[in-house]
Amino acid sequence: MSDTLIKINRWPVIGPVVRAIGLPNPTELHRSADPYVAQPFLSKSFLLARTEGAYASSRLADVLQRAGGREATESVDIFVMDATGCRTVADLRAVYSVFHEEIRRIARNGRVLLIAPPVDSTLDPVAAAVARGLEGFVRSLAKELGRRGVTANLASVQPQSLDRLDGVVRFFCGPQCAYVSGQAVHVSAEANAPAALPLTATLAGKVALVTGAARGIGLATAERLAQEGAKVVALDIPASTDELTAVAKRIGGSPLALDIAAPDTPAQLARFLKENFGGVDIVVHNAGVTRDRTLAKMEARQWEQVLDINLSAIAAIDKRMQDEGLMRESGRVVCMSSISGIAGNFGQTNYATSKAALIGYVAAQARLQASRGITFNAVAPGFIETPMTQKVPFMTREIGRRLNSLAQGGKPRDVAELVTFLCTPGACGISGQTIRVCGQGLMGA
Ligand code: NAD
Repeated sequence: MSDTLIKINRWPVIGPVVRAIGLPNPTELHRSADPYVAQPFLSKSFLLARTEGAYASSRLADVLQRAGGREATESVDIFVMDATGCRTVADLRAVYSVFHEEIRRIARNGRVLLIAPPVDSTLDPVAAAVARGLEGFVRSLAKELGRRGVTANLASVQPQSLDRLDGVVRFFCGPQCAYVSGQAVHVSAEANAPAALPLTATLAGKVALVTGAARGIGLATAERLAQEGAKVVALDIPASTDELTAVAKRIGGSPLALDIAAPDTPAQLARFLKENFGGVDIVVHNAGVTRDRTLAKMEARQWEQVLDINLSAIAAIDKRMQDEGLMRESGRVVCMSSISGIAGNFGQTNYATSKAALIGYVAAQARLQASRGITFNAVAPGFIETPMTQKVPFMTREIGRRLNSLAQGGKPRDVAELVTFLCTPGACGISGQTIRVCGQGLMGA
């Protein structure tokens, strides 16, 4: 599904007319179709700046260089700002000055990553305010840079979690982060992780379950995980058996036709995983449905169907796998939330309730599973070009896909990239969080 507006904007005569009448002129995003490589920044130039007292700079320099980056002399592909020393309003001024000086050097499709001190209520009030202020800064910066296809994000980190930054830098500064912008993540040492993290993220030898894998985001996720070497169990409803079988064959995985909301599914699924693989390392709870109706018109069955599939089924499957000890140490669970769960949406009280619930669910599970090194996170897609959004009427769809800083819809692969990153060993510092993949959608911004 290509973006017609991007194409029209390139046409010699019509392009200028389109722009003159005020239609957006989105930048075509550079995406990667390849698996991870040891040196993703080989042809990239980077600029690493720091504020006074910053504690992450030497680690960052090391990551950027080991990933193949070279220091920028002119245009900058990757701009990393170590602002971990920010404590005062004067420090914020230093951040302003650096970006004010350098912002024009940032190349199209560039990446900005600001490393910040964690927002912590035990900090003195001004330091806490300054740490939070950096989030506002990055979110606004992302809006200013979006029309050039640049993404800007923030990662907060404590000194004791610096060794968990590598994977985070590689993702947020890499080609996989084309549609994730304006996000703030916290890198913590809470979830147990092996002392030495692998330099490159490989999922070879891992068993991954992806629900709703016959099409759309689930299909892209199954393909992406398989591309990194995971053995994928692709699950979808029995009516999708043909598509599912074809997908599983293509990616060397196993098809599993089950309705996740059926009462006996957790037991059947547990048996399947135990008998065929002895356990599971990665679970992506992607399957989800909408049954849109304004609340006054919504029938109880429409409420129940959505809550059953989008929430109860996930909790029941996880419980069964935990009860049977099927989830392996250092496992990864990713739940597919939605921007509707963050901002709410007209006619979606059922859907938004279920998707917001997942945000609370992963936060609570993350705490419970940290000692086993199992992380739980949610991903909240914005407007993604899938069969689900193809059903939306044309004008609503067109508005939906433009209302973000990058002025275009995301691709299933963009969501799959974020999910896959969260499933890698390098994402061990991220747990209990919800990350949006929405091109910094204006909804719920
Ligand atoms: P889709 O409708 O294209 O695909 C969903 C898949 O889930 C289908 O293959 C379907 O058969 C399967 N599924 C549905 N109910 C199931 C059940 N009971 N058991 C097993 N499988 C079931 O949807 P999509 O756009 O790819 O969305 C995937 C996920 O992302 C959903 O959870 C959705 O809510 C979420 N999401 C999508 C968007 C978007 O813009 N497309 C935005 C926000 C969130």
